Amino acid sequence: MTELLFRDDGYLPACSARAIEADERGIRLDRTVFYPMGGGQPGDIGLLRLSSGQSIAIVDTVKGPLPDEVIHVPLPGSALPEPGAELVAEIDWDRRYRLMRMHTCLHLLCSIVPGAVTGGQVSDGRGGLDFDVPGSSLDKEAIASRLNVLIAEGHPVGPRWITDEELEAKPELVRTMSVKPPRGMGRVRLMEISGVDLQPCGGTHVRNTAEIGPVAVAKIENKGRQNRRVILAFAE
Ligand SMILES: [Zn+2]
Repeated sequence: MTELLFRDDGYLPACSARAIEADERGIRLDRTVFYPMGGGQPGDIGLLRLSSGQSIAIVDTVKGPLPDEVIHVPLPGSALPEPGAELVAEIDWDRRYRLMRMHTCLHLLCSIVPGAVTGGQVSDGRGGLDFDVPGSSLDKEAIASRLNVLIAEGHPVGPRWITDEELEAKPELVRTMSVKPPRGMGRVRLMEISGVDLQPCGGTHVRNTAEIGPVAVAKIENKGRQNRRVILAFAE
């Protein structure tokens, strides 16, 4: 099993690690800062720096078949590390930070558009959510201006553990949730934007909405009778 350092600290750009196994599918490490593709967020890219001075370019990161298994996908033709090899795993931090800013912004979008979220995707510099809303009720400019207010207000963002009982006793906590959190494990990990949004999420987030910076609504697409896709882009 891989220790997932990004889960507790999304701001780690690098870590020391040991290779567990490497084959044509990819490289497994004992710990990593690389986020594997999931929840609409792309996998990280970056480098594995070996103690020999060699580097292996990682072109994608995906989940493996086992829980918490992370597969670092090397550039085809790369030499693979021996099991046990000590290395430094280093993500492309500039790209990851843009993904974190846009991902966090999608939580804000989720909180201001009424209607269930039916899908979502973050890419480098852009991001979008699909909403189950009828007609042409969504206003590009109104959504953009509300988003930019929430961003500028600087709301803290962070994980929050609550017990199953707390969740039962305070249904208002889940007012903005689009996904039912898993029950029965005693406690539930949620991502909270103070006063704005609360939902279960395994992605990486910035610590404060002010870090997102100004955004624009690039377009609103019709994706079927009840489905509207709202696409955001950084304004700067
Ligand atoms: Zn999230």
